[in-house]
Amino acid sequence: MSIKDNLQSVKNNIAEAIERSGRNPEDVTLIAVSKTKPVSMIQEVYDLGIRDFGENKVQELVDKYDKLPQDIRWHLIGHLQTNKVKYVIDKAYLIHSVDSVKLAREISKEAVKRSLNVNILIEVNVSGEESKFGVSPDRLIETVEEIAALPGIYIKGLMTVAPYVVDSEQNREFFAQIMKFTVDIMQKNIDNVSMDFISMGMSGDYKVAIEEGATYIRVGTSIFGERNYNIL
Ligand SMILES: *Cc1c(COP(=O)(O)O)cnc(C)c1O
Repeated sequence: MSIKDNLQSVKNNIAEAIERSGRNPEDVTLIAVSKTKPVSMIQEVYDLGIRDFGENKVQELVDKYDKLPQDIRWHLIGHLQTNKVKYVIDKAYLIHSVDSVKLAREISKEAVKRSLNVNILIEVNVSGEESKFGVSPDRLIETVEEIAALPGIYIKGLMTVAPYVVDSEQNREFFAQIMKFTVDIMQKNIDNVSMDFISMGMSGDYKVAIEEGATYIRVGTSIFGERNYNIL
């Protein structure tokens, strides 16, 4: 299938999931995850109307940022090291992967220095898998409270990477838990914290994620095809 056909079929699936769950189509945004994919393919998806793209590496995001249209909203979705914050802070529209107070402090420091307001999501390790980044659920509220007190940084919601599963239904409970955490946090009415965005769902499970309340879904393989890490 061509990229165009792939994108159309993802869009159809999104529309169906939105319909099934009685949600507002405007509340769900597709992020095309373009990591490892060349600029030419991203341009093709851009020309088909997509403006939100996701990258998991700072260097790759920065390289592509310079080569592609300036109205792209670049989402940083991968683990961010504190020493790379300065390269990406003015280029990422939203940093999805803030997983520690230490990282948030660095973002805040750099934001203040450059008079920026930086929007972030807190990554939650909802499945408890050891290989995964993210704040553990039992430390979530205190982490949100600590980060919210930092200048120049705004918490806009939560993000999670669910386990890789064959049957996406297995991740439904994790997505539902994330939704519940956002409600808990909202009820706390913390300054500089809104729960506007819930970033969850990938190629294997985005339909279930939409049914459970995702506002950003991050889809790579189903749009661009399999990634080949060997050629990089
Ligand atoms: C690669 C990646 C995705 C997209 O994964 P696909 O299975 O290719 O859709 C989504 N989120 C994160 C954090 C990723 O690193």
